[in-house]
Order: sequence, then structure tokens, then C-alpha cells
Amino acid sequence: MDIVIASNNLHKIEEYKEILKEFKDLHIMSLKEAGIVVNPDENGKTFEENSLIKAKACAELTDKVVIADDSGLIVDSLPDILGVKTARFLGEETPYPQKWAEVIRLLEGKERTARFVCAITLINYEKEPVCFKGECVGNIAFKPQGTSGFGYDPIFVPNGYQETFATLGEEIKNKISHRANASKMLVSYLQEKL
Ligand code: IMP
Repeated sequence: MDIVIASNNLHKIEEYKEILKEFKDLHIMSLKEAGIVVNPDENGKTFEENSLIKAKACAELTDKVVIADDSGLIVDSLPDILGVKTARFLGEETPYPQKWAEVIRLLEGKERTARFVCAITLINYEKEPVCFKGECVGNIAFKPQGTSGFGYDPIFVPNGYQETFATLGEEIKNKISHRANASKMLVSYLQEKL
């Protein structure tokens, strides 16, 4: 079965290909591979709303099964920034090292607990959209470390580990991440319903 990932983020698509690789009957396609150009306004108030917006916009343009991912980083001591607006923190064009440095600066003397959240919306034609939400809880590091992954991976240390996602590498990240946790629910659903 073809599944289009409604995202232009190549890192996310690579992670889905890796996370879902044992499900041989799922063929993961990027928007580009499906020949779809779409970039809807992500103006929802929650991760679930934004993933639904992305999934619907894509599903209007294809007959294939669609999944959309909206994700972000919640830092408990900084409730007014990041979260559902993570992709826009300091502006989309600002280089990540600047974003990491600002988060670390704002956290001086504060609690460093944080979590990544991922909401996946599945639209299987003729059916209502279904949403799966996964989290990965951890802490913000005192300095960026590692080169693997993307986004905020160099400053996020998942619980149970001493190193950042970017240092732990893809194999570990793709087993324990917010995206992996949401994908586990997606896979159970697909196995049961489709
Ligand atoms: P989205 O593409 O609108 O869902 O924006 C998600 C943003 O959250 C990305 O641009 C990253 O900055 C951040 N993000 C989401 N998932 C991850 C992850 O797995 N690692 C690091 N950063 C992430």
C-alpha cells in the first residue's frame, strides 16, 4: 500500500522510512515522489489540529492514503515559546545553532525538563481522519552535542540516556522518539483496520 507523507521535511520522511521499514507492504512516498505540491497554513492551536490541516490539504490532491506529522518541542519552563510554534521560533530561516543557543540562554537557572511531541493524522480515503500522538520526555542539554538527526536533536537528552538525540544517533532515536511512539500506534491501527 502506498502512503504519502504530507511533509516537505526530508529528515522526517527518512525517519518514517526507517521506523516503518519492517512493514514491507507499506510503501512510504514523499510529496515530491507523489507529485504533490502543497504547503497549507499551519494555523491550528494544537499539534493534532495542525497535522489534520496538513493531512486534509494533501488528501484533497491524491487518492492515496495520506499521513501528516506535526511535531515540536515543549520546554516546561518556557511555555510561551516553541510548542506548536516550534518551526517558527526566531523565524524559519534562522540557523539552528542560534535557536539552540537562545533556548539554552533562556533556561539559565531554570528547570530543564522538556518533551518532543508528534501528532500523526492518517486519512484513509472514505474514512474519517484518525490521529495518533506520541511523546518523548527528557531534558535540554547545557550545550549542543552531536551531528545526527535534525532540528533540536543536538540539545535534547531523552530520559534514560546521558547524551543528546544527535549524539545517540538514528538507530536509538528511531526506537524511542515521539515519532516512533506515534508510529507504533499508527502501525497497530493499520494492522487491525486495513
Ligand atoms: P513541523 O514541520 O511544522 O512539524 O515543525 C516541527 C519542528 O519541530 C521542526 O522544524 C523541528 O524544529 C522540530 N522538531 C520536530 N521533530 C523533531 C525531531 O525529531 N528532532 C528535532 N527537532 C524536531
